[in-house]
Amino acid sequence: VLAALKDHEGAIAARPLSDTLKRAKGALIAETLDRAGLWQAQTPQAFRFGKFYAAHEAARAEGRSGFTDDAALAEHYGLDIALVESGSRNMKITTPEDLRLADMLARSERPAFPVADIRSGSGFDVHAFEPGGHVTLCGVKIPHTHGLKGHSDADVGLHALTDALLGTIGAGDIGDHFPPSDTQWRGADSALFLRRAAELVAERGGRITNTDITLICERPKIGPYRDAMRSRIADLLNLDPERVSVKATTSEGLGFTGRREGIAAMANATVAFATPPARNA
Ligand code: MG
Repeated sequence: VLAALKDHEGAIAARPLSDTLKRAKGALIAETLDRAGLWQAQTPQAFRFGKFYAAHEAARAEGRSGFTDDAALAEHYGLDIALVESGSRNMKITTPEDLRLADMLARSERPAFPVADIRSGSGFDVHAFEPGGHVTLCGVKIPHTHGLKGHSDADVGLHALTDALLGTIGAGDIGDHFPPSDTQWRGADSALFLRRAAELVAERGGRITNTDITLICERPKIGPYRDAMRSRIADLLNLDPERVSVKATTSEGLGFTGRREGIAAMANATVAFATPPARNA
């Protein structure tokens, strides 16, 4: 419409009539009209300001009203107005049914949201200190005045995250999959547990979208190892590091973590599934 204004004083969107037109006499057909050259006016309608304003002024001065669209007023005062062919989707919304139709059209044209089912899971774990010279946290070995007591490598961060992943698919907890009574997990690298949980998620069609771990301890200091932890987890889960978060806090000297008796970890994982939920959809 704007492009047509370059060569005309006005331009409107419109479409050639496709319906056969009948003139009625009461409830009966009186005649069929020739639809050749008939167009249905739509919006937008655009005009060069000066001429259009002058037409309005003239209509007011002459007391003329009852024009059913802007173009009708403009054409009455002799402006040349171009018809710009537009599709039937450029519909006018007048009745509630028009609104329902427009809504259906808009919905059908909106790109489908690529993910219909997003789930999150949480995990929590604690391990106590014992004599030793290092701890393993989020897959990173850190020199420390103590070790962590546990059946495996006691990686409290990866254990919490493993539980969080299992939580997204309702697959129990880490103890169900790797019982402490099973000697094969003695001293195991907890990366095994995390990878297994990620496999189970993938088998069910899930795609991990982010993970977030909070380590709670007074010592060791986590900050210097945080990026190494993030990249280790990102490698294990095949994720962008920006989708992997590791945070740390103390408990202000309170409780068992405050007394430096052990380390606690909380974790969250979010997993997207392409299929919509079967129930409560
Ligand atoms: Mg544990």
